[in-house]
Amino acid sequence: MSQPGLDYCPPLEQVDRLVEAASRAHGHLCPGQVIGVRASILGLRLLGYPCPLGWPEIKSIVGFVEIERCMADAVATASGLRFGRGSLKLINLGLLAVTFLDLPSGRAVRLLSRESARELAAGYAPEVEGAHAQQTRAYRVMPDGELFEVQWVKVELKPEELPGARPPKVPCSRCGVLVRSGQVHPSDQGPLCAVCAGRAYFEILEREDC
Ligand SMILES: [Zn+2]
Ligand SMILES: [Zn+2]
Repeated sequence: MSQPGLDYCPPLEQVDRLVEAASRAHGHLCPGQVIGVRASILGLRLLGYPCPLGWPEIKSIVGFVEIERCMADAVATASGLRFGRGSLKLINLGLLAVTFLDLPSGRAVRLLSRESARELAAGYAPEVEGAHAQQTRAYRVMPDGELFEVQWVKVELKPEELPGARPPKVPCSRCGVLVRSGQVHPSDQGPLCAVCAGRAYFEILEREDC
């Protein structure tokens, strides 16, 4: 059987089931939930996988979401990939895009949300009032190719970033804290944790020693 093209739209029943689950987990129904669900279904289909991913094939995929907004939550719920399992990564580029990498084959597909879909939404849901609600409704039934630009890409993933990787814990040579996940910073004084290396995201105001 030949693969459906980009004029394809997945079964509405599948889309709605995943959108419902995603909005419940996310806290509200929004266009981002539908975009994340549709991107997950399309990306996984192009790699030959179902959505959500089952077991054990979920171990074969790593997802990269490029925005820290609604869509990221929907990709997690729809695909089954998780930040806490290393199978979903947040690379905050501020772009409405997600890439799925198939580890066994090394193939990776990136779905970038098309801005033109916003204008097309009215035509797919003329009965709905308000741009936001119109998009939410329309994105459920719009063909894949109108929703996303599809790119086949190459993603380099370091061994310590693979899901399930357990690189050795390394003590910081200055403060002694154990650094996990290969996140040590080499220095002249030896390996440093991010805080001692001045690479932390926070600034310590006061240290409580009592
Ligand atoms: Zn939202
Ligand atoms: Zn340290």
